[in-house]
Amino acid sequence: MSQGSTLPNCPQCNHHDTQFIPASLVTIIDLEDIEYFYKSPHFSYLITEGPNNEYRHVAAHFFKCHQLLPDALDDLPDAYDLKDWKDPGSSIEGMGTLFCQACGHYEKHILGEQHRLS
Ligand SMILES: [Zn+2]
Repeated sequence: MSQGSTLPNCPQCNHHDTQFIPASLVTIIDLEDIEYFYKSPHFSYLITEGPNNEYRHVAAHFFKCHQLLPDALDDLPDAYDLKDWKDPGSSIEGMGTLFCQACGHYEKHILGEQHRLS
C-alpha cells in the first residue's frame, strides 16, 4: 500500500500529521451473508466495482471505526475466517482509516478521493 503524500489534513483540527491505516476487505461469498455483515459492529458492508464493471460485495473492517476484532466471533458465518481480515494483504481499493495524530480524530477514507465514506 503506498501511502503517498496526498493525505488530507485532519478534517477536525486541520493538522497535517495524519496517518492512513488500510482497511481489511474480504469478499462476501454468499449474498445471504450480506445482512450479517451489514448489521455487525465489526464490519462495513460495501460494494466495489471491479475492472470489468463487475460488482464485488465486501465486508470491510476499518481500524478504530469499528470495534476491535476479537480472536473469535461466535456468530461469524462458516465460510469466513477472522484471520482473513487480520492479513494486511487483504486490503484493496485504497480504503482505510484516516487518523489524526494531533487530536485523535478518525474517519473512513479512500486514498486520492475527496468524498467521505459514510
Ligand atoms: Zn486532528
